This record gives sequence, C-alpha cells and structure tokens, in this order.
Amino acid sequence: MLVEDGVVSWVGSGPLPAGARTGYVVDCGRWGVAIPCLYNAHTHAAMSLLRGFHDEDELHVWLGRMWYVEKRLDEETAYAASKLSAIEMAIGGTCGFMDMYFFPEAAARAARELGLRARVGPVIMGDVDPLRAVEEADRFASRLLGDPLVGPVFNVHSIYASPLEAVEEAARRALEKRVPFHIHASETRREVYEAKKRYSVFPVELLHRLGALHRYSVLVHMGWAASWELELVREAGASMVHCPASNMKLATAGHFPLYEAQESGINVALGTDGPASNNTLDMLREARLAVLLQRHSYWDTRVGARHVLRAATEGSARAMALPRGAGRLEPGAPGDLAVLDLSRPGLQPVRSDNLLSAIVYAASATDTAYTVVAGRPVYTPEQRQRLIEEAEELAERLNRFLEKIGEGADTTPPCSPRAACRGD
Ligand SMILES: [Zn+2]
Repeated sequence: MLVEDGVVSWVGSGPLPAGARTGYVVDCGRWGVAIPCLYNAHTHAAMSLLRGFHDEDELHVWLGRMWYVEKRLDEETAYAASKLSAIEMAIGGTCGFMDMYFFPEAAARAARELGLRARVGPVIMGDVDPLRAVEEADRFASRLLGDPLVGPVFNVHSIYASPLEAVEEAARRALEKRVPFHIHASETRREVYEAKKRYSVFPVELLHRLGALHRYSVLVHMGWAASWELELVREAGASMVHCPASNMKLATAGHFPLYEAQESGINVALGTDGPASNNTLDMLREARLAVLLQRHSYWDTRVGARHVLRAATEGSARAMALPRGAGRLEPGAPGDLAVLDLSRPGLQPVRSDNLLSAIVYAASATDTAYTVVAGRPVYTPEQRQRLIEEAEELAERLNRFLEKIGEGADTTPPCSPRAACRGD
C-alpha cells in the first residue's frame, strides 16, 4: 500500500507503480496486518482523570462524585488528562475521536500534539443561557476552520441536562456548517419516562420535533429507543453510536438495536464513552464487547465481527464527518491505518480465513504496532518508550490534582460553557 500526500494512492501486490517515491516504510513481516484505522465516535477524553474513581457506585451516586471533581477542574488538568487519553488511543490503533467535554481547547491541543484526528467543542449543559451557549460553541467552531485534523462538533449533553432551545439551535447550526451534532439520547429508562411525562413523546421523537434529527446528528447510547424512533433516525440519515461497555458498567441496560439499524441503512458507529465509565479507550475490546452484548440480547448470532468492525471504522468516520473514504483502505481514502502484530500466542493460529475473528474476538489495542494518520506515523515501535514515559508523568500530575482537591459529592451538574452560565 502506498500513501502519498496523506492519501492512499495504491493498494496491491507486486512492485510499486512506476514513479512511486518511498518514504517511511512499514514492513508487516510475517504477522503484521494493516487494518483501516479505528475511530472512537464518543469520548470524554479528559475523564481519564477519573478512571478507577468510585467504580463500584450506582449511576447517580457516581455522577455526584464526578461532578464534585468536574466543578474544580482547570484547563491544565483537562489538558494532561486529554493527553493521557490521546496517547492511549494513538498507541492502540485509534486514529481519531469525537469528544464531548469541558475545556475543548485542551482536547484539541492533545490531539494535535499526537497527530490524531479529533472532533471537539464545548459541551452545552446545566443552567446556561441557550443562545449564548450555542454562540460560544459556534465561535469555538469557527476557530478550527482550516485545521486539517481537528474539527468542530456541536456538543449538547442531552435533552434532560441541557435546555431544549440549545438542542434546537445547536442542531440547526451543525447542519448549516456540516458539522456533527452530538448528543446522548435514550440512554436510560428514566430519560424515556421523563420525556414522555414532560413532553408526551419519547426522546428521539422530541429531537425530531425540535428539528434536531438530520444527517449530521449523532445519537449516543440509544438503548431504549422504540422501533418508530429508529424509523425517524433512518429518514433523517442520522448516526447512532453504540457504547456497550459503558452501558453495561453503569447498568443502564436496554438494547442498542445494532442489527436493525445497520440493516435498515442507519449509520452505526462505535465509541468507548469516557475512561471513567468504561474504563479503557481500547476500540478492539469495545468491538468484541459489542458483538457479545448483541448476541446476549438477541439470543442469536446475527451480529458478527464484520458488523462491529464496520461500525468502528467506516461507521464512526461517517458520524464524525471525516473526509470521504475514511475507514476504508482503498485508493483515494485518507492515509489512516493501524498495523496489528498478530504474533502473540493468544491470537494464534492465525490464517487468512480467520483473520477477522482474530482481530475482533482475540486482539486488543495492545497488539497495535503502528498507527498512521494522514500518512504520518503517530505511533511506531521506536516511539513507544517515549510515549509510555510521558503517560506516566501525566498520570502523576492527575493524581496530584485529585489529592489537592480532596473528595466530595455534588448534587447538581456543572454548567458549561462557563461564559454562558446564568449563575455567573
Ligand atoms: Zn458519554
């Protein structure tokens, strides 16, 4: 495979095409396999700060603990945590992520330093002036124009934690700017129940009524959506993101209708959610969990390795509005790829007929040997030691921060973006 000027220009066997220049050469050897890069379509990257933090608590207790820390978070700590996550993703075969968190500039900086693709923007939630909040998000989005790898996303937390006017306006601007509109939707039974009680409709129906369903809309979780809501998603051409580990860990239950969605032509993406509710950003483990959870829910094997690998690559790329062809390895596609080393005993015996099984059911992010974004190697065996050492330093900074602020619980969510908070 040849990647020139950031784009795949040739894939084949035998000699390189005449006139091809060679630069950085990756020799896959006997057990190396190149795959289209993985994209994590739903993260809160800076929540690596809260990895392993009150893991055994039930959702609402857990949230109170998170909010206590998040209300004290500063930009430098958000940067250190985002950088730790960006390193984890780069060394794990993930070329890009779509992030929803406070201090989006911190995530952008971390992604740029690693050379990853990212979609970032302030999250709109809490007691904010909706129009000022969307204005802030729009200003942030404009600042990213022209950046080849880091682009904007309009992040509205949810219909229950964000003002509905913000949902409406952010979705409208996202469509106008052709930028993802990213929202948690139909995650818990409580959300569905409250929507029905307050608005007489289900969450996705409400989004539809607000004009927030369109081809740039990205609905995360969707564990409790009704069949007629799926039809609305399909008609709008919107995407859905499956986050199986987070749903299981936070015991939100429900069932993400992956098979029906893909069969009906809905774009399905895969995400890990934040490192506090997962606790890893390993997209191969997420793909494996997705198949297993789907089979467990359907009581049959209709969802297989190919469905989830498609979601983790092409599906996520489309949800993130990445350049055309992202998630595929073919001429004209962006030069984003990962090389896995399948020599480990736990992956053997590997053959050409069971390659996909090895990748989805047995491999994990730690089997990544190279990660290449837009033709640029962002992770290679030579870089490994330096990145591991940097991650250790970042983790120490995070632990010092947690020690400094102490422990506590807060009953109200943080407000974001700050400039639009009414309390201020
Ligand atoms: Zn989330």
